[in-house]
Amino acid sequence: MPGMNLTKQEAAERFATVSHARYAIDLDFSGSGRTFRSDTTVEFDATPGASTFIEAAWADIDVIELNGEALDPALHTDGRIPLEDLQEHNTLRVAGDFGYRNDGQGIHRFVDPADGEVYLYSQFAANDTRAAFACFDQPDIKGEFTFTVTVPEHWVVVSNSPTPEPEALEEGLARWAFGPTVPIPSYGAAVVAGPYAYHEGLLHGADGDIPARVYGRPSLEQHFDGDRVLEDTQAGLELYESVFQTPYPYEKYDQIYVPQYNLGAMENIGCVTISEDRLLFRGRPTAAELEFRTVVVLHELAHMWFGNLVTMKWWDDLWLNESFAEFIGTWAAAEVSEWKDAWVTFAADRKSVAYVQDQLPTTHAIVTEVPDTEATVSAFDMITYAKGASALKQLAQFVGEDAFFGGVASYLQRYHHGNATLAEFLAEVESAAERRLDGWAEVWLETPGVTTLRPIIATDDAGALTRLAVAEDVPVEHPVHRPHGVEIAGYELSEGTFERSWTVSATLDGPLTEVPEAVGHARPALLLVNDRDLTYAKLHLDELSLANLEAHIAHVDDAMAQATVLDALWHMTRDGSLAAQRYIDAVLSVAPRLLNSATAESHLALMVIALRRYLAPEHVAEITEAAAERLWLAVGEAEPGSDIQLQLLKGYAQVASTTEQGLRLRALVEGTAEIAGLDIDSDLTWDLLGGLAAAGGIDLEEVDHYASLDVSAAGQRRAAGVRAAIATPEAKQAAWDALVRPADGPAINAVQFQMAAGLARAVDPALLAPLVDDLLGSLREYYDANAGFVGVRVARLVLPVNLVGRVDGLAGRLEQWLADNDDAPSVLRKVVVEGLDHVRRAQIAQTTSRMAAAS
Ligand SMILES: [Zn+2]
Repeated sequence: MPGMNLTKQEAAERFATVSHARYAIDLDFSGSGRTFRSDTTVEFDATPGASTFIEAAWADIDVIELNGEALDPALHTDGRIPLEDLQEHNTLRVAGDFGYRNDGQGIHRFVDPADGEVYLYSQFAANDTRAAFACFDQPDIKGEFTFTVTVPEHWVVVSNSPTPEPEALEEGLARWAFGPTVPIPSYGAAVVAGPYAYHEGLLHGADGDIPARVYGRPSLEQHFDGDRVLEDTQAGLELYESVFQTPYPYEKYDQIYVPQYNLGAMENIGCVTISEDRLLFRGRPTAAELEFRTVVVLHELAHMWFGNLVTMKWWDDLWLNESFAEFIGTWAAAEVSEWKDAWVTFAADRKSVAYVQDQLPTTHAIVTEVPDTEATVSAFDMITYAKGASALKQLAQFVGEDAFFGGVASYLQRYHHGNATLAEFLAEVESAAERRLDGWAEVWLETPGVTTLRPIIATDDAGALTRLAVAEDVPVEHPVHRPHGVEIAGYELSEGTFERSWTVSATLDGPLTEVPEAVGHARPALLLVNDRDLTYAKLHLDELSLANLEAHIAHVDDAMAQATVLDALWHMTRDGSLAAQRYIDAVLSVAPRLLNSATAESHLALMVIALRRYLAPEHVAEITEAAAERLWLAVGEAEPGSDIQLQLLKGYAQVASTTEQGLRLRALVEGTAEIAGLDIDSDLTWDLLGGLAAAGGIDLEEVDHYASLDVSAAGQRRAAGVRAAIATPEAKQAAWDALVRPADGPAINAVQFQMAAGLARAVDPALLAPLVDDLLGSLREYYDANAGFVGVRVARLVLPVNLVGRVDGLAGRLEQWLADNDDAPSVLRKVVVEGLDHVRRAQIAQTTSRMAAAS
């Protein structure tokens, strides 16, 4: 449907025609059916005589009135209503029945399986505001939104404007009439409605107090952790108001845990939605999870300035929102929260993923072409977030933090409540820094690809460095050098422990940069050319460093150094230059001593990928079993109650493969065995059951039994994942059938994610071989019924790339799929193109693994 996909060109033409939109939106959520009533009057200015259109999607429109004249509702086709012969000032009314969604977009309707209560929330980004009411759904036609919402009287309603007192209506209903917003982008409007509970709070801003509540479902109220969320928010608010030199720009700040959410959170103006599934913890969270919530809280708060107060003009400047929020959120966490290691977490997790994505054939520049709204789904990736944040970190270092934040402050002041572009942002930083940045922007922001930093070392007879240079190897597809501000450090082994013995700062620029300051130092046991992880580049370790590291990795005792070396080994494995078994061994050796929770979580998860994809298949069973044994020992030796103990047990559940290993999980779940310091709470129970299923130790009937003991939404969702993880071809087929051939329309987003992840999970990837024909044959059919975020995420999960080396010609079959589906949606083709690249990479890595095992 071409009308559903707004192009950049169409948006530019409409921007030239339409301005000053003021919406009065009346939503009626009082019914029990699959639709709600939406009645919108929008006043807007236009070029007299011009024509344009307005969007309304997932809707049955029955009223269209333009400037007092009734138009034929049949004009509404493909999500658009044409508007012709406009006047200077126009009044348009559009009313109809709009559909509730269960894919986490538009107005998502959640029904609590425990008590049947309904909870609604909006998710309008990138362009689903049109799925709730008629609007000009593009970021640069900012509007003033006035919501009136009718709901059952026991509900509450939260939106962008301060929450009013409800007005009681007849028949057990109530109406909530909100005041108008200031100009905001359509994707930042929001409505949340249902019998939500809240934790009352107040923030103290530069211009006075700001009402701030933390909402969520009442059955989870004891887990809101509202005081801590508000503490993080207050700390961020003070920091941002100070460095941005701009007071918080809105009247209140609510944060709402919402169920079945696709993202971590969304920065709706004054009405932030946060994933209940990921960030509201029923059981004991890991430190990595708690830290992630803090960073998310700070990230979304930063968006109130970046993205909301000043908005990108079009989605190709999404980085102006996301790279900024990512950079500032991480920086703020390190500055003002308890998570002083936030940059370590960033390096171990999101930045490492950015390196992966940046080497795919589908990679893009941080500032990327987004030709239409369909392509925005792909723009929300770790290149936009984490590479962009890394580039901004380099920019702040390049021009100095004072100049950087000075430029940021004047940018926010100049484009207050407006829109801006990359050039406009850079102009402000340039004038604050008094230097040109176009060269910097070109290589960092406008060119894709990750480069590799490689040390070149010469020593004299006494072992002192006579030369240190750093080569920057560029990928052939994107042969561009970038300036890198780095710290280079030499570590010595002192009583078995690596200690940093010297550090030099350098600016690397070009194919080869000499570092004369290092000459004269003893050749270190371990040389890191991106110590403290200041820049964005892959690291190549020299042979001596690699040998020392592998022999003594357990004795790297700096959190950032641990993350840096593990990341280097991981990427060497992916590149086929290090056998997967060596990376796996390194992870297992250092895991019990990891100082940062996210480093543990990331590398225990990446180790699973290495086991199933990069190891030569003939060695998988033996090495997987041994890995699980080492983890089990480590769990037993870990300090009771420590975070690493919990991470190691979760890691064990991911790799347990034999009957005996499964029985240990069963004993913990059934309470016939205990581990001191570990309480097997409901979420951990599901983690362990997932491991038991993958190890072949549980059947469907028993999963149903556990599901009956946990009738919460989380329990039902997790049960779906465990059923799909059962290690039989029948269970895998049933999971795919439930995704692609559902009896009653597509399953709920959150359940689909669990089913897809469970389906893909197999300690022996060959288990999926019988499904490969059906998976590839019906992938398109699946996507057509689940287009957008959910479809992309599920397609990525189920694409059977781990079958590489287990079925003949997997790469050829993916190539054939691409040839047969050249008219498929671009985002689905992208998933398969990337899968093909993963397969080819894995073929090389498996060869490396095989040769190392033979030698
Ligand atoms: Zn964001």
